Amino acid sequence: MKSILLTGGAGFIGSHTCLSLLENGYEIFVIDSYINSSRKSLENVLKILKKKYNRNLKNSLNLFEGDLKNVRDIEAVFQKANEVNKSIEAVIHFAGLKSVSESMAYPLCYWENNFYGTINLLKIMEKYNCKNIVFSSSATVYQTKINQLLNERDKCSPVNPYGQTKLAVEKLLKDIYKSAPSEWRIACLRYFNPVGAHESGLIGEAPFGKPNNLFPQITKVAIGIMSEIKIFGSDWPTPDGTGIRDYIHVMDLSEGHISSLNYLLKEKPQMITLNLGTGKGTSVKEFIRTFEKINNVEIPFSFVERRPGDNAFVVADNSFAKSILSWEPSRNIEDICRNGWNWQVMNPDGY
Ligand code: UDP
Repeated sequence: MKSILLTGGAGFIGSHTCLSLLENGYEIFVIDSYINSSRKSLENVLKILKKKYNRNLKNSLNLFEGDLKNVRDIEAVFQKANEVNKSIEAVIHFAGLKSVSESMAYPLCYWENNFYGTINLLKIMEKYNCKNIVFSSSATVYQTKINQLLNERDKCSPVNPYGQTKLAVEKLLKDIYKSAPSEWRIACLRYFNPVGAHESGLIGEAPFGKPNNLFPQITKVAIGIMSEIKIFGSDWPTPDGTGIRDYIHVMDLSEGHISSLNYLLKEKPQMITLNLGTGKGTSVKEFIRTFEKINNVEIPFSFVERRPGDNAFVVADNSFAKSILSWEPSRNIEDICRNGWNWQVMNPDGY
């Protein structure tokens, strides 16, 4: 039997994707350093499955603590998988650091974790003849355009080290693909703004410390852990003056991974780059208002200066992903607000 390895599988997007993979009958291995994630996320994934299907899938989920900076940690997983006759067929590579502001303060750390970590992973994949990979890239690789949807052929020019590391890995993957195009199957998934939580409220986003992103701050203000949202700029060239983003429900995103993996494994070797977004933009103010209305809570906010490196409008043209995958986001901003709030209320302190 073959299995799928998820690096960073205990994190926000990783844990939701573990759930979708297990639901779809996959056998999975996870390697996670737990520096930004919790073991409880995957315990809760098993709880959700137990409750929904009355099945204990513990034996289909093989957990390894390890860091991609240490090549031996990665090899240990591939070795173990071979030993138990569940060799790894494909990797979904989530592991990496993801804060834009932190990446500007600690670029070396970001390059080491995100780039060097991926080199180690690819070396071991080659050694074990595993040549199928789905990589977590980001919309931050794009050079943004004013009020136009971004498509995969648009120019890339990241403005911070985090985005640079994502684009560098995409380029590395391209070189690897070109070195053996009849062997590699590679998908680079450019995420827009993943938010929300699984509807059970058992798994969700649990950043350590004060969150940087908008949505976890909204839920923290709603529950009283933070006093208000500081909106970065009121004079953007958008209808209400606040920044517009493409917020995608984490379950739609995780299902996008399953579709991408299924596509790769059934089609001929190739490299594809796909935007995973909804194609719909929501402003900061609209997001706050929708959250208030759906959940009947108040979210105080005030305006502060624009954040360096921010953009007015970052929204996906997702037509390519929709056309080649049998996938389409099915949840809207209201679902995001409802599920994200449920997660926050059920887990006021995270995991
Ligand atoms: N934002 C904000 N206040 C915050 C955090 C974010 O006004 O404390 C805005 C930000 O300027 C952007 C949107 O919310 O327009 C989404 O920001 P986030 O950091 O969540 O994601 P990004 O798209 O920047 O990666």
